[in-house]
Amino acid sequence: MKLTILGCHSATPSINANPTAQVLEIKNNMFLIDCGEGTQVELRRNKIKFSRIKHIFISHLHGDHYFGLVGLVNTFSLLTRETELHIYAPKGLKEVILLQMKLSASWTQYPLIFHELSSDASELIYEDDKVEVYTIPLKHRVYTNGFLFKEKENERKIDINLVTEANIDKAYFRKLKQGFDVENEDGVLINNKKVTKDPKPAKSYAYCSDTIYNEDIIPIIKDSTVLYHESTFLDKNEALCIPTKHSTAKQAATIAKKANVETLILGHYSTRYNGYNDFKTEAKTVFNNVLLSKDGKTFNFD
Ligand SMILES: [Zn+2]
Ligand SMILES: [Zn+2]
Repeated sequence: MKLTILGCHSATPSINANPTAQVLEIKNNMFLIDCGEGTQVELRRNKIKFSRIKHIFISHLHGDHYFGLVGLVNTFSLLTRETELHIYAPKGLKEVILLQMKLSASWTQYPLIFHELSSDASELIYEDDKVEVYTIPLKHRVYTNGFLFKEKENERKIDINLVTEANIDKAYFRKLKQGFDVENEDGVLINNKKVTKDPKPAKSYAYCSDTIYNEDIIPIIKDSTVLYHESTFLDKNEALCIPTKHSTAKQAATIAKKANVETLILGHYSTRYNGYNDFKTEAKTVFNNVLLSKDGKTFNFD
Protein backbone atom coordinates (compact mmCIF):
# COMPACT_ATOMS: atom_id res chain seq x y z
CA MET A 1 0.00 0.00 0.00
CA LYS A 2 1.52 3.31 -1.10
CA LEU A 3 0.14 6.84 -0.75
CA THR A 4 1.37 9.87 -2.72
CA ILE A 5 0.27 13.33 -1.68
CA LEU A 6 -0.40 15.60 -4.67
CA GLY A 7 -1.89 18.47 -2.65
CA CYS A 8 -2.04 19.06 1.10
CA HIS A 9 -3.56 22.54 1.51
CA SER A 10 -7.13 23.68 2.05
CA ALA A 11 -8.90 26.42 0.10
CA THR A 12 -6.46 27.91 -2.41
CA PRO A 13 -3.32 26.85 -4.29
CA SER A 14 -0.07 28.53 -3.24
CA ILE A 15 3.45 28.54 -4.69
CA ASN A 16 4.51 25.56 -2.59
CA ALA A 17 1.30 23.61 -2.09
CA ASN A 18 -1.80 22.56 -4.01
CA PRO A 19 -5.30 21.96 -2.72
CA THR A 20 -6.30 18.39 -1.89
CA ALA A 21 -5.46 15.40 -4.07
CA GLN A 22 -3.82 12.04 -3.36
CA VAL A 23 -3.07 8.78 -5.14
CA LEU A 24 -3.45 5.48 -3.31
CA GLU A 25 -1.77 2.42 -4.81
CA ILE A 26 -3.37 -0.69 -3.34
CA LYS A 27 -3.33 -4.23 -4.80
CA ASN A 28 -2.55 -3.02 -8.33
CA ASN A 29 -5.19 -0.26 -8.24
CA MET A 30 -4.27 3.42 -8.61
CA PHE A 31 -7.08 5.30 -6.92
CA LEU A 32 -7.17 9.09 -7.25
CA ILE A 33 -8.73 10.66 -4.16
CA ASP A 34 -10.01 14.21 -4.64
CA CYS A 35 -8.77 16.31 -7.51
CA GLY A 36 -8.02 19.91 -6.56
CA GLU A 37 -6.54 22.44 -8.97
CA GLY A 38 -3.09 21.40 -10.18
CA THR A 39 -3.68 17.67 -9.88
CA GLN A 40 -2.65 16.77 -13.41
CA VAL A 41 0.61 18.70 -13.13
CA GLU A 42 1.37 16.90 -9.85
CA LEU A 43 0.54 13.52 -11.42
CA ARG A 44 3.16 14.27 -14.09
CA ARG A 45 5.68 15.56 -11.56
CA ASN A 46 5.28 12.37 -9.53
CA LYS A 47 5.51 10.22 -12.69
CA ILE A 48 2.12 8.58 -12.17
CA LYS A 49 0.85 7.12 -15.44
CA PHE A 50 -2.51 8.65 -16.39
CA SER A 51 -3.63 5.37 -17.97
CA ARG A 52 -3.42 3.59 -14.59
CA ILE A 53 -6.10 5.84 -13.09
CA LYS A 54 -9.46 4.16 -13.61
CA HIS A 55 -11.35 5.24 -10.49
CA ILE A 56 -11.59 8.74 -8.98
CA PHE A 57 -13.19 9.39 -5.57
CA ILE A 58 -14.42 12.93 -4.81
CA SER A 59 -15.27 13.69 -1.18
CA HIS A 60 -17.41 16.80 -1.69
CA LEU A 61 -18.12 19.67 -4.01
CA HIS A 62 -16.02 22.43 -2.44
CA GLY A 63 -13.67 23.61 -5.18
CA ASP A 64 -10.45 22.73 -3.36
CA HIS A 65 -11.44 19.04 -3.82
CA TYR A 66 -12.54 18.92 -7.47
CA PHE A 67 -11.57 22.02 -9.50
CA GLY A 68 -8.86 19.95 -11.23
CA LEU A 69 -11.29 17.31 -12.44
CA VAL A 70 -12.68 18.76 -15.68
CA GLY A 71 -9.14 19.51 -16.85
CA LEU A 72 -8.03 15.96 -16.13
CA VAL A 73 -11.09 14.46 -17.85
CA ASN A 74 -10.33 16.64 -20.90
CA THR A 75 -6.63 15.74 -20.94
CA PHE A 76 -7.51 12.04 -20.88
CA SER A 77 -9.53 12.72 -24.05
CA LEU A 78 -6.69 14.57 -25.77
CA LEU A 79 -4.44 11.62 -24.97
CA THR A 80 -6.96 9.39 -26.83
CA ARG A 81 -7.79 7.34 -23.78
CA GLU A 82 -10.10 4.41 -24.48
CA THR A 83 -10.50 2.77 -21.07
CA GLU A 84 -13.44 3.51 -18.79
CA LEU A 85 -13.14 6.20 -16.14
CA HIS A 86 -15.32 5.82 -13.04
CA ILE A 87 -16.03 8.84 -10.85
CA TYR A 88 -17.56 8.38 -7.38
CA ALA A 89 -18.86 11.71 -6.11
CA PRO A 90 -21.78 13.50 -4.46
CA LYS A 91 -24.87 13.97 -6.60
CA GLY A 92 -24.43 17.15 -8.63
CA LEU A 93 -20.88 16.63 -9.88
CA LYS A 94 -22.08 14.88 -13.04
CA GLU A 95 -24.22 17.92 -13.90
CA VAL A 96 -21.27 20.29 -13.37
CA ILE A 97 -18.82 18.28 -15.48
CA LEU A 98 -21.29 17.53 -18.28
CA LEU A 99 -22.29 21.20 -18.54
CA GLN A 100 -18.66 22.26 -18.89
CA MET A 101 -18.11 19.62 -21.57
CA LYS A 102 -21.32 20.47 -23.39
CA LEU A 103 -20.52 24.20 -23.64
CA SER A 104 -17.04 23.49 -24.96
CA ALA A 105 -18.22 20.66 -27.26
CA SER A 106 -15.54 18.42 -25.83
CA TRP A 107 -17.13 15.04 -25.27
CA THR A 108 -14.91 12.16 -24.25
CA GLN A 109 -14.43 9.26 -26.67
CA TYR A 110 -13.85 6.95 -23.65
CA PRO A 111 -16.69 5.82 -21.35
CA LEU A 112 -17.08 8.31 -18.49
CA ILE A 113 -19.16 6.70 -15.76
CA PHE A 114 -20.50 8.63 -12.78
CA HIS A 115 -21.50 6.93 -9.53
CA GLU A 116 -23.50 9.59 -7.70
CA LEU A 117 -23.57 9.39 -3.92
CA SER A 118 -26.35 10.66 -1.70
CA SER A 119 -26.61 8.21 1.22
CA ASP A 120 -26.00 9.35 4.80
CA ALA A 121 -24.95 5.82 5.81
CA SER A 122 -21.66 4.07 5.03
CA GLU A 123 -22.02 2.00 1.83
CA LEU A 124 -19.89 -0.28 -0.33
CA ILE A 125 -19.22 1.61 -3.57
CA TYR A 126 -16.41 -0.40 -5.19
CA GLU A 127 -15.27 -4.01 -5.05
CA ASP A 128 -12.88 -6.24 -6.96
CA ASP A 129 -11.29 -9.57 -6.00
CA LYS A 130 -8.73 -7.89 -3.71
CA VAL A 131 -10.13 -4.55 -2.51
CA GLU A 132 -13.34 -2.99 -1.16
CA VAL A 133 -14.15 0.72 -0.86
CA TYR A 134 -16.76 2.07 1.57
CA THR A 135 -17.95 5.62 2.12
CA ILE A 136 -17.38 7.31 5.49
CA PRO A 137 -20.18 9.87 6.04
CA LEU A 138 -18.63 13.11 7.34
CA LYS A 139 -20.05 16.29 8.83
CA HIS A 140 -19.13 19.39 6.84
CA ARG A 141 -20.85 22.45 5.36
CA VAL A 142 -22.01 20.46 2.32
CA TYR A 143 -22.71 16.74 1.77
CA THR A 144 -19.35 14.98 2.26
CA ASN A 145 -17.96 11.46 2.34
CA GLY A 146 -14.58 10.12 3.32
CA PHE A 147 -13.51 6.77 1.86
CA LEU A 148 -12.30 3.56 3.46
CA PHE A 149 -10.08 1.44 1.19
CA LYS A 150 -9.78 -2.12 2.52
CA GLU A 151 -7.71 -5.01 1.28
CA LYS A 152 -9.58 -8.32 1.40
CA GLU A 153 -7.98 -11.07 3.51
CA ASN A 154 -4.84 -12.32 1.79
CA GLU A 155 -4.45 -16.01 0.95
CA ARG A 156 -2.41 -18.39 3.13
CA LYS A 157 1.16 -19.03 1.97
CA ILE A 158 2.14 -22.57 0.95
CA ASP A 159 5.47 -23.87 2.27
CA ILE A 160 6.68 -25.79 -0.78
CA ASN A 161 9.06 -28.05 1.20
CA LEU A 162 6.36 -29.03 3.67
CA VAL A 163 3.70 -29.80 1.02
CA THR A 164 6.20 -31.93 -0.93
CA GLU A 165 7.14 -33.77 2.27
CA ALA A 166 3.42 -34.29 3.08
CA ASN A 167 2.90 -35.80 -0.41
CA ILE A 168 0.11 -33.39 -1.45
CA ASP A 169 -0.80 -33.13 -5.13
CA LYS A 170 -0.54 -29.70 -6.85
CA ALA A 171 -4.24 -29.84 -7.69
CA TYR A 172 -4.98 -29.10 -4.00
CA PHE A 173 -2.78 -25.97 -3.71
CA ARG A 174 -5.72 -23.65 -4.42
CA LYS A 175 -7.69 -25.22 -1.53
CA LEU A 176 -4.66 -24.94 0.76
CA LYS A 177 -4.29 -21.21 -0.01
CA GLN A 178 -7.95 -20.77 0.90
CA GLY A 179 -7.34 -22.41 4.30
CA PHE A 180 -8.87 -25.87 3.78
CA ASP A 181 -7.41 -29.14 5.08
CA VAL A 182 -6.76 -31.54 2.16
CA GLU A 183 -6.06 -35.24 1.63
CA ASN A 184 -2.59 -36.29 0.46
CA GLU A 185 -1.80 -38.93 -2.18
CA ASP A 186 -2.10 -41.66 0.49
CA GLY A 187 -5.60 -40.53 1.51
CA VAL A 188 -4.47 -38.99 4.82
CA LEU A 189 -6.12 -35.70 5.84
CA ILE A 190 -3.44 -33.00 6.31
CA ASN A 191 -4.06 -30.09 8.67
CA ASN A 192 -3.77 -26.87 6.67
CA LYS A 193 -1.70 -25.04 9.30
CA LYS A 194 1.01 -27.75 9.17
CA VAL A 195 1.89 -26.91 5.56
CA THR A 196 0.95 -23.22 5.16
CA LYS A 197 1.91 -19.94 6.81
CA ASP A 198 -0.34 -17.11 7.95
CA PRO A 199 -0.93 -14.46 5.24
CA LYS A 200 0.20 -10.86 5.57
CA PRO A 201 -2.49 -8.95 7.50
CA ALA A 202 -4.91 -7.06 5.22
CA LYS A 203 -4.27 -3.29 5.20
CA SER A 204 -6.71 -0.43 5.13
CA TYR A 205 -6.63 3.30 4.48
CA ALA A 206 -9.27 5.68 5.84
CA TYR A 207 -9.46 9.08 4.17
CA CYS A 208 -11.40 11.71 6.14
CA SER A 209 -11.55 15.22 4.68
CA ASP A 210 -13.31 17.64 5.27
CA THR A 211 -15.05 17.26 8.61
CA ILE A 212 -15.79 18.70 11.99
CA TYR A 213 -14.74 16.50 14.96
CA ASN A 214 -17.17 13.57 14.71
CA GLU A 215 -16.96 10.43 16.82
CA ASP A 216 -19.67 8.74 14.70
CA ILE A 217 -16.97 7.70 12.21
CA ILE A 218 -15.00 5.69 14.79
CA PRO A 219 -16.81 2.33 14.30
CA ILE A 220 -16.26 2.59 10.52
CA ILE A 221 -12.53 3.39 10.63
CA LYS A 222 -11.71 1.28 13.73
CA ASP A 223 -8.28 -0.47 13.63
CA SER A 224 -7.36 0.96 10.21
CA THR A 225 -3.71 0.70 9.22
CA VAL A 226 -3.60 4.36 8.24
CA LEU A 227 -5.97 7.25 8.89
CA TYR A 228 -5.70 10.51 6.97
CA HIS A 229 -7.69 13.05 8.96
CA GLU A 230 -7.94 16.68 8.03
CA SER A 231 -6.31 19.16 10.41
CA THR A 232 -7.18 22.54 9.01
CA PHE A 233 -6.43 24.45 12.22
CA LEU A 234 -4.06 24.61 15.18
CA ASP A 235 -5.37 24.84 18.75
CA LYS A 236 -5.20 28.65 18.87
CA ASN A 237 -7.84 28.80 16.10
CA GLU A 238 -10.07 26.03 17.44
CA ALA A 239 -13.06 28.41 17.56
CA LEU A 240 -13.01 28.52 13.74
CA CYS A 241 -13.82 24.79 13.58
CA ILE A 242 -17.49 25.38 14.44
CA PRO A 243 -18.52 27.81 11.66
CA THR A 244 -16.26 26.21 9.02
CA LYS A 245 -16.89 22.61 10.10
CA HIS A 246 -13.23 21.63 10.14
CA SER A 247 -10.93 20.01 12.73
CA THR A 248 -7.74 20.82 14.62
CA ALA A 249 -4.65 18.61 14.62
CA LYS A 250 -5.40 17.60 18.22
CA GLN A 251 -8.97 16.61 17.32
CA ALA A 252 -7.65 14.50 14.41
CA ALA A 253 -5.28 12.79 16.87
CA THR A 254 -8.14 12.14 19.30
CA ILE A 255 -10.10 10.36 16.55
CA ALA A 256 -6.94 8.35 15.65
CA LYS A 257 -6.51 7.31 19.28
CA LYS A 258 -10.15 6.39 19.87
CA ALA A 259 -10.28 4.43 16.59
CA ASN A 260 -7.06 2.58 17.50
CA VAL A 261 -5.45 3.17 14.09
CA GLU A 262 -1.75 2.45 13.59
CA THR A 263 -0.71 5.67 11.84
CA LEU A 264 -2.22 9.14 11.48
CA ILE A 265 -1.46 11.43 8.54
CA LEU A 266 -2.39 15.10 8.91
CA GLY A 267 -3.24 17.49 6.07
CA HIS A 268 -5.66 20.02 4.57
CA TYR A 269 -3.74 22.75 6.41
CA SER A 270 -5.12 26.27 6.39
CA THR A 271 -2.99 28.61 4.29
CA ARG A 272 -2.81 31.04 7.24
CA TYR A 273 0.09 29.10 8.81
CA ASN A 274 3.76 29.02 7.86
CA GLY A 275 5.16 25.50 8.10
CA TYR A 276 3.52 22.31 9.32
CA ASN A 277 5.56 21.24 12.36
CA ASP A 278 3.17 22.74 14.93
CA PHE A 279 0.43 20.44 13.61
CA LYS A 280 2.60 17.43 14.42
CA THR A 281 3.60 18.77 17.84
CA GLU A 282 -0.01 19.39 18.87
CA ALA A 283 -1.26 16.03 17.53
CA LYS A 284 1.55 14.15 19.30
CA THR A 285 0.32 15.34 22.68
CA VAL A 286 -2.61 12.92 22.10
CA PHE A 287 -1.39 10.23 19.65
CA ASN A 288 2.18 9.17 19.03
CA ASN A 289 2.42 7.91 15.47
CA VAL A 290 1.82 11.08 13.43
CA LEU A 291 3.02 11.88 9.90
CA LEU A 292 2.64 15.14 8.00
CA SER A 293 1.40 15.23 4.45
CA LYS A 294 3.31 17.45 2.04
CA ASP A 295 2.99 17.86 -1.71
CA GLY A 296 5.09 15.24 -3.52
CA LYS A 297 5.60 13.07 -0.41
CA THR A 298 5.12 9.29 -0.73
CA PHE A 299 4.36 6.99 2.19
CA ASN A 300 4.95 3.24 1.92
CA PHE A 301 3.00 0.93 4.20
CA ASP A 302 4.41 -2.52 3.44
ZN1 LIG B 1 -11.39 21.42 1.69
ZN1 LIG C 1 -14.77 21.55 2.25
